Formats: sequence, C-alpha cells, structure tokens
Amino acid sequence: MKFKPKNFICKNCGGVLRYDVLSHELKCDFCGSIEKIEKSNKPIEEYDFKEGLAKFSKNRVVDNREITCNKCGATFKLDSYELSSLCPYCKTPIITDLTKDIQPKSLIPFEITEKEAQERFKKWIGSLWFAPNQLKDFVDGNKKLIGYYLPYWTFDSNTRTKYSGERGDIYFVTVKRVVEINGEDVEIEEEEPRIMWTPVSGEVYHSFDDVTVGASKTISHSLLDRLAPWNTKELIPFNEKYLSGFVSEEYTIDLNEGFRYAKEQMKRVIIGDIKRDIGGDQQQIDYMHTEYSDTTYKDTLFPIYSAEFKWQGKLYDYLINGQSGKVVGERPYSVVKITIAIISTITILVIIYYIYGRYHH
Ligand SMILES: [Zn+2]
Ligand SMILES: [Zn+2]
Repeated sequence: MKFKPKNFICKNCGGVLRYDVLSHELKCDFCGSIEKIEKSNKPIEEYDFKEGLAKFSKNRVVDNREITCNKCGATFKLDSYELSSLCPYCKTPIITDLTKDIQPKSLIPFEITEKEAQERFKKWIGSLWFAPNQLKDFVDGNKKLIGYYLPYWTFDSNTRTKYSGERGDIYFVTVKRVVEINGEDVEIEEEEPRIMWTPVSGEVYHSFDDVTVGASKTISHSLLDRLAPWNTKELIPFNEKYLSGFVSEEYTIDLNEGFRYAKEQMKRVIIGDIKRDIGGDQQQIDYMHTEYSDTTYKDTLFPIYSAEFKWQGKLYDYLINGQSGKVVGERPYSVVKITIAIISTITILVIIYYIYGRYHH
C-alpha cells in the first residue's frame, strides 16, 4: 500500500513544521515561525475495560505501508504499528493516516528538550564509574537521541482481596544460663525472643488510579515500566500535531496482556496492604484472591527519548522520561576497569600487611 504522509506546512515560507518542546507549539524548520496548536478542553475519558476487550479483539490488518517523502521524494517502508516517523534520508517528519479505529485518545507532550535530555543522560552516565570508556565517548560525541511517543495503557480498578495467613508476635521468655565469671560458675537470667504465630484472615480494599503499563514491544517492557511515575494529570486529548518530528507507535501489547502486567503491579501494593492489615511483628500470607471491579482504561502516548549503544556485541538501551527527565537503562560494566580496581586494592592490602608486619617483628 503506497501513500503520501501528511505534513504541517508553514504559512510564512512553506517549510515543514515540527512540534517545538519549548513553546509547546509548532515551529518551522526554516524561518522559525511559530504556529499555535489549538488547545482542547475536552476531559480525558476513561473507557470500560470489558467493552475495550471486545473492541480490541478484532484482528488487525497488518499493512505494508510504502511511503514517499514529501520533501526528498524517497520511498521507504514503515512498520505497521508506526503512527509517525522521520524520513530516513532527510529527517522530514512523516505523519501517517491515523484513521484506524485504534488510535490513542490522549498523550503527554514532550516537556524536556532533546538538549536537556542529553544533559541528564551525560550526568547519569558520568556517575557510572565502572562504565566502559566507549560509552562515555558515545555520550560526549553528542549522538542524537531519538524522541518517541510510545503507547501506554493506564488502568483504574477497585479491588477487593480476601486473604488468610499468619501473624507473628514477638515475645520474650526468661531463660536461665550458666556462665563462668572469674573462674566460678554463675547462673544468670536472660531474655530470649520467641515468635507466636496466630492464624488470621481478612479482606482489604484498594482503589487504583492510573496504573501505567508500557504497551510497546520495541523496547523491553520492564525498562518502560521503570520510567514511572508519569504525571497523568498532564494528559491532553490526542492531536497529531504533537507527533510532528517524533517517532510514534500504536500499542503492540494488547489491552488484555496490558491488564495482566497491571495486575502484577497492583499485587505488589495489595501485599503491602495485607501485611499492614495483619499487623504484628511478622506476617505470612498463605492465600490471597483479588476481585477487580469498575475497571477502566485509557490508551495514551507518553514521551520518551532513547539512546542505543552497542558494546561487545550486546545492545544496551537507555530511556529518558520526556516528561520528568528520569533516566533508566542497563549498566554495562568494564571488566578491565573492575580488574584494575581489584588489583589496586590487593596491592594496597599487601603493602599495608608488609609495613604492619615489619613493625611487629
Ligand atoms: Zn517557515
Ligand atoms: Zn525525505
């Protein structure tokens, strides 16, 4: 399927407009003109989870979209889940037809500029004492970060959890013990801790608001989740103008699978609730069962900068939260640096031992 991407064009000079993070408006590549993005006051809706499951269960058509760049005329392919991208040759924004029934209903616009993101990244990398030098070179080389709008699900749910388990209370018993004092056996009394376990059961309730789950398979799900927290109060109704100049995707983790991940997050919170409910000094949970009601969801796009770094055949991903600036990623460790550090430590210990030894013989 061939198609022409959409571009937003500058009224002043005919150049291509991109979303500008500093002004929160569209800005022209060439003359710098600013064009206002009409702001909507529409409230962000929550959708019923069960209805959503029925709606999204329809099979999606995977189309092979061939795109011709409006500016340089180059033709290239886009992945079926990409909503927007950049021309690989001239970096002109590409905005696809968003007429599909699955379209994100809201998004958080970029708050952090690419430059700020780069600074945060540098600071973060700088603190990695054992990171390989190549990584630092990569950072100092000012390699461009890529700005993505990635799909997220957010879930609200009222939960009721039945549990049973045991509550442990510490108490002390007095025990007699014989010790030797000045060569004589003396009987002393000591307090010794014991735990008394009593069976407990009960129910806890928790209303969850906006549990966020990364819904892109492009980047590892666990990495996406570590970018939290997101301030979902800043969600605005979807407008494709915010995508101009950024790569964006629709979800590749579906609603059902997304909710499974959300349940894992909620479970961690509920376990804390149960332990508080049990009380005492120690708690043991033998059984828990959670019922979810009034579950709603939102499909959204969140702003993320990404840096990819290949080192010793392994690919490392770094992500920067485009709203808060938080950096997450795997940390590659330089074996050489660590070895040198260990050898230095041993050398110092040997020297200390040697000097110490001389004074004491
Ligand atoms: Zn212009
Ligand atoms: Zn082009």
